[in-house]
Amino acid sequence: MTILELHSFAKGKWVAPAGNLRPIHSAVTGEHIANAGSDGLDFQGMVDFAISAGGPSLREMTFHQRAKKLKALALYLQERRDQLYALSYMTGATLSDSKIDIDGGIGTLMVFASKGRREMPDGKVFLDSEVEQLSRKGSFVGQHICTPLLGVAVHINAFNFPVWGMLEKLAPSLLAGVPAIVKPATATSFLTEACVRLMDQSGIFPAGSFQLISGGSGDLLDQLGAQDIVSFTGSADTALMLRSNPNLLGRGVRFLAEQDSLNASVLGLDAGIGTPEFELFVKEAVREMTAKAGQKCTAIRRMIVPEAMLEPLAEAMVAKLEGMVIGDPSLATTRIGALASAEQKADVLAKLAILGAECTRIHGDPQSFRVDGADGDKGAFLPPVLLRCNDPDTSEMVHSIEAFGPVSTLMGYRDIDHAAALMNRGGGSLVGSVITNDPEVARAITMASAAWHGRLYFNNRHSMAESTGHGSPLPHMIHGGPGRAGGGEELGGIRGVMHYMQRTAVQGSPDILTAIGDVWVRGSAEITPPEHPFRRSFDEISIGETIHTDSREVTLADIEHFARFTGDTFYAHMDDAAACANPFFPGRVAHGYLLLSFAAGLFVEPSPGPVLANTGLNSLSFQKPVVPGDKIHARLTAKRKTRRTDEYGEIRWNVTVYNQQNEEVAEYELLTMVAYSR
Ligand code: NAP
Repeated sequence: MTILELHSFAKGKWVAPAGNLRPIHSAVTGEHIANAGSDGLDFQGMVDFAISAGGPSLREMTFHQRAKKLKALALYLQERRDQLYALSYMTGATLSDSKIDIDGGIGTLMVFASKGRREMPDGKVFLDSEVEQLSRKGSFVGQHICTPLLGVAVHINAFNFPVWGMLEKLAPSLLAGVPAIVKPATATSFLTEACVRLMDQSGIFPAGSFQLISGGSGDLLDQLGAQDIVSFTGSADTALMLRSNPNLLGRGVRFLAEQDSLNASVLGLDAGIGTPEFELFVKEAVREMTAKAGQKCTAIRRMIVPEAMLEPLAEAMVAKLEGMVIGDPSLATTRIGALASAEQKADVLAKLAILGAECTRIHGDPQSFRVDGADGDKGAFLPPVLLRCNDPDTSEMVHSIEAFGPVSTLMGYRDIDHAAALMNRGGGSLVGSVITNDPEVARAITMASAAWHGRLYFNNRHSMAESTGHGSPLPHMIHGGPGRAGGGEELGGIRGVMHYMQRTAVQGSPDILTAIGDVWVRGSAEITPPEHPFRRSFDEISIGETIHTDSREVTLADIEHFARFTGDTFYAHMDDAAACANPFFPGRVAHGYLLLSFAAGLFVEPSPGPVLANTGLNSLSFQKPVVPGDKIHARLTAKRKTRRTDEYGEIRWNVTVYNQQNEEVAEYELLTMVAYSR
């Protein structure tokens, strides 16, 4: 078999391994399959290349343009994912394990592509807050904005997700506009390298957007500065060592850490034998032990169940685990593949020996088990090992030692407070789950334990058909956790992008803030369009274009007609005495919706034109009641423009409705879709 020479991708070129080569072995056969080595790599040059080539090209684009590239990349990889599956077997992964890694990574790109277009502007500045009025007359205002860091992101990943681990960090980084240097864990870097080669071949992202180190990271961390960020995933020990780097500390380099975690799952007191929740708990617990051979940072390590349920649960789990085929991951019959390396297997065996002092083994003998289709002595195979801890209160190791393989421990609890206290003994976790059909149990655990977890996952008979699984980090939801789990946060939708951006408070006049954010700020100079803005196409309209309408009197007859016509005969519109008794109204008042309708009648341009549809209305507020005889008029201002499809974009308008004293009576944001050309 040819030994793969894993290249680094540095400064736009593929660089062969050199110097001290690190041999990589197949997890399944133990054969030497690849070499990695990064001696002699110009780490300073890689940082400079990212900052001088990648960063400027990425920042030249808007959030939407980068989001579109993420989608294109996802589709490109999706079409070629079979090439990645073929290599993934050698990491010990079954096809379904590979899908978690490869399809999961591609799916993460897709979600960020879609969220980037829906939740971020088609511009270069992300507005993080509403405008703050900082002065009495409104000539000095403030707003929080986010702009991309001007440096490089260094992504250091763990061995267990060679593709997802890279893509879940790259998606938010590239969407933010920050180039990345990826350093995968060496043991499975052959799969990451293959994926980066595809990404390079796609030509979708500009040069310098991503680079790859196959092998050690040398003095890379010593080259970083205050505009750079390190995002690390791996063990707590490595995280501590890396985050203590004097250069990182001295220069205030951002450091995100996703570490190991003693995740727990609790079975509610309500979930007796025969309930759907009992079955669900068994299913989820077994899946978490066996998927990826238990090498998931989110896997359930501690199962905390009512004391009376210990025996029946152990029986139910053993019944499911017993028939599971361990073996060659490329066989369709195999449920549990190999661990990623012999070192990893040795590490799990060592951790099992430590746990053995506090736990009884209920199922799975690491010294004697059957392996199908592969040599059990050469591959890094282990059976699922189910442990029981008889005294979880006095035990220490079971709450602190992570055996990163198919290992999980059952322990009993007396009441919900006890269950939450045991969960919290993990010292901070990525995810805690509770299988219960009792909302009170869910609430009690949340109050006692949420502060110790990055994610809480509740499941029961109502959600189980569609639930995504205890161990699945979703791009929409936060992945990370306090304390032991690293104190970091990734994903969580656009929250994840913010790690790669600087939040800045900007203060100034409304015109200055409008120019910076490209969104009209109240108090900015008005632009008078040459014709009604609804006759103008998307591309012709400028932010700040404003029209003031004629005025219209609101009569008692209008109010009565509207009440009869719509059926809204609420007393404030119909009964003077009752309205007067209400602290909000001086007497009968116009319906708020009548005012909106009249405002539309005042500002609308009736003929067919570029405005295609009114798609919504945001932030509606009524500030002052309108009484019969008042005269209202409206101001319509183009506030924000966002390109949506190839034919039209969205324009948001500020609409403010005034009475005859120029007092504001209503304000809202009107959403329209407008064609690019007439
Ligand atoms: P690890 O040994 O801590 O390694 C993690 C990464 O750090 C690898 O890329 C490794 O590279 C690199 N590294 C090690 N020493 C370094 C150094 N001196 N300078 C720069 N980089 C260095 O962890 P692992 O064994 O790959 O992963 C297993 C652990 O990760 C488990 O504890 C698991 O719980 C945790 N994990 C956490 C998450 C999460 O999201 N929280 C996800 C997955 C895994 P080399 O491989 O080249 O040494």
